[in-house]
Amino acid sequence: MSDIIHLLPDSVANQIAAGEVIQRPASVLKELVENSIDAGATYIQIVIQDAGRTLIQVTDNGKGMSETDARMAFERHATSKITQVEDLFSLRTMGFRGEALASIASVAQVELRTRRQEDELGVMIEIAGSRVFKQESVQTTVGTTFLVKNLFFNVPARRRFLKSDNVEKSHIFTEFYRIALVNNDITFSVLDGQEEVFQLPAANKKVRIEQIFSKVGKKKWQNQLLPIESDTNLVNVSGYVGKPEFAQKSATQYFFVNGRYMRHPYFHKAVMLAFSQMIQANESPNYFIYLTVDPQTIDINIHPTKTEIKFENEQAIWSILNACVKEVLGKFNVVPSIDFDQADALEIPVASRLENIRPPQTNFNPNYNPFKSSESYKRNSLDWETLYNNFDSVSPKPDAELSSAEMSLEEIIIPSAVQPIPLNQPTKHSVYQFKTKFIVTSLASGLMFIHQQRAHMRILFDHYMQLISKKESVSQQLLFPEQFSLSHADSLLFDTVLPELKFVGFEIRSSESAVYEIFGIPEQINPGSINLFLMNLLDKVKHATEDVHATLQSDLALSLAKFACVKVGQKLTEEEMNDLIDRLFSCQNQQFSPEGKKIVEIMSMEELDSRFN
Ligand code: ADP
Ligand code: MG
Repeated sequence: MSDIIHLLPDSVANQIAAGEVIQRPASVLKELVENSIDAGATYIQIVIQDAGRTLIQVTDNGKGMSETDARMAFERHATSKITQVEDLFSLRTMGFRGEALASIASVAQVELRTRRQEDELGVMIEIAGSRVFKQESVQTTVGTTFLVKNLFFNVPARRRFLKSDNVEKSHIFTEFYRIALVNNDITFSVLDGQEEVFQLPAANKKVRIEQIFSKVGKKKWQNQLLPIESDTNLVNVSGYVGKPEFAQKSATQYFFVNGRYMRHPYFHKAVMLAFSQMIQANESPNYFIYLTVDPQTIDINIHPTKTEIKFENEQAIWSILNACVKEVLGKFNVVPSIDFDQADALEIPVASRLENIRPPQTNFNPNYNPFKSSESYKRNSLDWETLYNNFDSVSPKPDAELSSAEMSLEEIIIPSAVQPIPLNQPTKHSVYQFKTKFIVTSLASGLMFIHQQRAHMRILFDHYMQLISKKESVSQQLLFPEQFSLSHADSLLFDTVLPELKFVGFEIRSSESAVYEIFGIPEQINPGSINLFLMNLLDKVKHATEDVHATLQSDLALSLAKFACVKVGQKLTEEEMNDLIDRLFSCQNQQFSPEGKKIVEIMSMEELDSRFN
């Protein structure tokens, strides 16, 4: 029997390679535009027809190619960008594989026109299905134009695999944004058939973001972008994050490294975490973040279509990124504020059916000075407090209309109405508890509902986070130390979280290997639930997919806050409610619980009025 192994003809080998590199019109666009960027272009024009099926044309004013190079460019593994394997680790160009043009030319009809500055005449090459049909000298401007016609003309299966025009176009624009957002020094023009879709003059990054996204109906980009900036010897971080109030379910998020778009779920977490206290759990912030690092410290994915990139100093960059975003959010004080202002205090006359209701004047102390605080009643001093009016003379007024409303008296607890208030502890705000779930109080602009459980969770979370960051702790000592033991493997993990546990108030010592004794626990925690708490924590550490320590402190603070907070269904006294309101509004973020759920809802006067019309 004769030998059966032979080399594949170039056209076949190229087509196989093309299967990887060129999956759809958008891939052609990406490869061509990246080549133009590598050629030093300052102007790039893109024309597509039929979502790129029949034509993708890219024209640049880059350095062009010599006649021989133009011919060589279509060979497989032909590149001017690297010469040795080491070059892969100091890449400063977008391309390096030398496969794109060979692949494109194997599955489409390609026409190239190119001229260098120093040449009088340029060259034109026509190539289709890897076969050169024509090559001649032509008059042409400096730079390069590629026309890619009838993509997959010779691979019907792939042609059929393409999706609808809209889908293919959306892929094209996705690629275009990734390139244009980071190459803001380049002027781009994009034509879809006859229609000019983009005309983007060179601009700074912020303007470029606006140029692109105001185009597709997203306004207000300039108002929402907060600049981030950090320069360390590991990484330079720059770019923008959107203000929390612009967060949305499908946000616009871009990471770039050294001028290249990348996906990076781990860094994404760093940004999300910085926002997590300020936005709803199911929402996500917009961001455009540009990293610059020494090319030696990253590993560009060798796979032609993958956008993941490995970083040598991933953890350190994670922290820098997280800190940058936190800083800008703090600096611009982007936590939305509530419009407390001078106006009516709460006058909700809901208690008329109460038999033992006290006449309003019994609560009135003519000598009471609201600005002189009594010893026994400590409060943080808060500006917003003064925005309440008449808070020492709240008087329930009977009102026939409301007494017939659906609210039952069990549901509405009005401590001030049922109990005489000691004169030395006057009510600050008029409050009542609704369905043992909400605290209701009046604002100048309407009625405010506060979710008691979430509010308290926020207060405690901030408290524990503060303890952790100050490395301070307050513990309650256990009368009888509790003992528990772990497997050796578990104890190794548990030891890693001991320092953090200490900061929140745990006093745990290990008496012998893998045996622990609990002497003290955080305040406000029920000693009976400690074991469960610790085991849950261990479980979390064990099953964490990434570095738990990055999020351990906030996880711990959250678990504790959840454990210790006032729950729905718990009755609160007026004083407790007042205290809760005070403490909530001295938190940096009163809007959302640490789990990203809404704490405060305000029904405005206008809204209320409109319901009566
Ligand atoms: P790679 O970009 O990985 O080098 P390509 O197949 O995309 O491989 O391109 C092959 C070569 O053709 C490039 O290395 C470059 O020298 C040349 N080339 C491609 N496009 C252009 C262009 N628009 N202007 C100048 N040279 C180009
Ligand atoms: Mg290339």
